[in-house]
Amino acid sequence: MSSALQYPFTEPPAAGHRVQVAPGVYWLHFPLPFSLDHINLWLLEDGDGWTLVDTGFGSRATRDLWRAAFDSALDGRPIRRILVTHYHPDHIGQAAWLATHFQAPVWMTRGEWALTQRLQAASDQEVADGFRGLFGRHGLGEAELATLAGRGNGYRKVMPELPPTPVIIAEGDTVTINGDTWRVHIGRGHAPEHACLYRERDHLLISGDQVLPTISSNLTVRANLPDEDPVTEFVDSLRALRAALPADTLVLPAHGLPFRGLHQRIDDLCAHHDEQLDAAQAACDQRPLTAFDLLPVLFKRELDSHQLMFAMGESIAHLNCLHALGRVRREERDGCLYHIAV
Ligand SMILES: [Zn+2]
Repeated sequence: MSSALQYPFTEPPAAGHRVQVAPGVYWLHFPLPFSLDHINLWLLEDGDGWTLVDTGFGSRATRDLWRAAFDSALDGRPIRRILVTHYHPDHIGQAAWLATHFQAPVWMTRGEWALTQRLQAASDQEVADGFRGLFGRHGLGEAELATLAGRGNGYRKVMPELPPTPVIIAEGDTVTINGDTWRVHIGRGHAPEHACLYRERDHLLISGDQVLPTISSNLTVRANLPDEDPVTEFVDSLRALRAALPADTLVLPAHGLPFRGLHQRIDDLCAHHDEQLDAAQAACDQRPLTAFDLLPVLFKRELDSHQLMFAMGESIAHLNCLHALGRVRREERDGCLYHIAV
């Protein structure tokens, strides 16, 4: 699918070390405790210190790695500013701790800050009710619902502290870092207002999770906005990014290797979601289906309970998109939503 992409770097940096990927731009690689086993963070020279883009997972293990990296990866120089692409705990997890340690401001978008605050503040009961309300209505069985609901607020466990009130960035803003201008491009669908950063002078894009080289970013629907259509938001914002940025852009993603081939990758991602929509509609033409029924059509692999949560969100997202386009209609039976191809 991504054979046309070029990868100028074959290996990530070793733990606690940085690798230069462009003038003043360095790559850090931190582990994650999931099947997605790492995240890339980006360190930008900024006067006598650094601007850091994304911060690593909110775990004690990541904090220990950071302490060890202060002298090696950072050369003992301070972090002067922390830019967070979006609310996910592998990106924002250490923002509060690093901001306190270095007395550094956090910069992020209004939409990501609002969602971070809301998720962090939710009670265990509110989270459990949200799962039951949304996933129950979309066909998830009682045993799986009880497992998910029993976890309580999983976000707060890996995001124990809120960072200080951030400096707000928005679409089209420019951020000056070491005399260079970086422009903010907003992505949607994976997160409400995901910040990507583009350096015009050498066509460099820090893409966060908005554009990844080998996996398609998770798109999910949240319980408080059950009819959202993140598939359309994701595809539309990717097309806007494709129109705004040149084909030779070097993409620095949060997961996987830096690559060239932005336009091709965006075309592949949009085609992937078109195929998933077609497959979902065809399945709903055979018999009325819930989002849960649709999982084996959209996901060809076994799903553990962690992946089941993401897969349900993604399945609901594709059905919401088909519904918004008038390609399926809905019938409610026994409290569950069934989808019928139109
Ligand atoms: Zn993410």
